[in-house]
Amino acid sequence: MKASILSPQPSFDPWWWEAAPPAAATASDVPSAADVAIVGAGYTGLSAALTLARAGRGVVVFDAGDPGQGASSRNGGMLGSGHRVSFATMSARYGRATAVGILKEGLASLAYTADLIRRENIDCHFSQTGRFRAEFHAKHYDNLGREVDFLRKEFGVEVDMVPKAEQHREVATDIYHGGCVYHQHGALHPALFHKGLLDRVVAAGATVIGRTPVTAIERIKGSFSVITDRTPLTAGNVIAATNGYTGAVTPQLRRRVVPVPSFIIATEPLSAETINELIPNGRTIVETRRLHCYYRISPDGSRMLFGARASLLPMDTRKSAKRLHDIMAKLFPRLADAKITHSWTGFVAFSRDQLAHIGVTDGIHFAMGYCGSGVAMAPYLGYKVAQKILGSPEGNTAFDDTNFAAIPLYSGRPWFLSFLDPYYRIADLFD
Ligand SMILES: Cc1cc2nc3c(=O)[nH]c(=O)nc-3n(C[C@H](O)[C@H](O)[C@H](O)COP(=O)(O)OP(=O)(O)OC[C@H]3O[C@@H](n4cnc5c(N)ncnc54)[C@H](O)[C@@H]3O)c2cc1C
Repeated sequence: MKASILSPQPSFDPWWWEAAPPAAATASDVPSAADVAIVGAGYTGLSAALTLARAGRGVVVFDAGDPGQGASSRNGGMLGSGHRVSFATMSARYGRATAVGILKEGLASLAYTADLIRRENIDCHFSQTGRFRAEFHAKHYDNLGREVDFLRKEFGVEVDMVPKAEQHREVATDIYHGGCVYHQHGALHPALFHKGLLDRVVAAGATVIGRTPVTAIERIKGSFSVITDRTPLTAGNVIAATNGYTGAVTPQLRRRVVPVPSFIIATEPLSAETINELIPNGRTIVETRRLHCYYRISPDGSRMLFGARASLLPMDTRKSAKRLHDIMAKLFPRLADAKITHSWTGFVAFSRDQLAHIGVTDGIHFAMGYCGSGVAMAPYLGYKVAQKILGSPEGNTAFDDTNFAAIPLYSGRPWFLSFLDPYYRIADLFD
């Protein structure tokens, strides 16, 4: 790769970790028993843990790495309320009532997470920035207009169309064909949000144990034995909160989610003039092509954080830096010489119907399958899964009425992604 693209001492860890590196293991002793064991210390696991510990339950959370080392401290920090699939697709699959419920819960997840941050006083640069959804294909702009009308009229969503002629007020590129602004969407610092949640969970009395992969979950007479390389833990309930890192310990879930990598780069600090020109209103930007670029200005207002699905398969982060830089420079020729200081990756989880899922399988509770949009939804469904365990009707959700289907011919090795990868790239060109 051209040496000039990377800064002299690039980092291949998330830029977010400069301010909040993942906490090392917070507890060393594994208790012999707990009411609830949680596998995964990301937003889902911690939100469930907080709810359960505050309700007086004994909770132990395990993470294979340092707590937060998964997607929850690596993501773009962009909070949205939407789902990957259209209302029409959800209605066709699950009926109008369920589709309405899911759409409303998208909005509820945004409100829940914003309220959680305020209530818990988590200092994570949360701001209701609004989001510009950039339309990549001219022929889809009219459809977007119809969807926006529907969302505004039926659900009171605060959303406005932005025609191509006016898009420079949101983003300084001519590559898009207009778009819309969702005013209620926001942005935060994901690793500080995670750290804040972790601190609250520990203060509430839960035990969080890092660097301890759960290797087996055995059912023993109405309870579970959770096996690690340390003392086995007996728990009344278990929650799998492993999303894009779901592995062999829950094979029934692994068949239902496909881990897909997402990549981000951080530029070197840019001038205030450049920043103001690139994204004048400081919104988060998400585009509609399959490559799915998403980007924003860092919370300190200094750099561009630019993400995309540079590949459907894992890729060396030096190589992904180059790929993302090329895409970014096509959108913003002004950034062609901007150096990359950080390049990193992490896994999201796609479900077959591209919706999040919550439920119980073989007695194990789970919430996962956020399809790359979990910053608001994961804390929300973590709360819901905890409420289910507490036996509260608060745990009911429209997601209960969906089908978390297994993916045909798949048991955890996503062999089909190597075929889809080039297809997606070509489809973007011709779509
Ligand atoms: C690069 C990137 C950018 C993203 N950008 C955005 C964005 O801007 N907006 C948005 O809404 N969403 C975004 N996402 C998605 C979002 O980050 C996730 O949906 C969310 O963090 C999922 O949280 P989680 O707690 O369910 O999973 P995670 O945070 O991934 O945590 C799962 C944890 O489970 C642990 N684990 C797995 N197996 C075991 C085991 N056997 N034993 C113990 N622990 C185990 C893992 O170590 C991991 O820490 C992005 C994701 C990535 C990777």
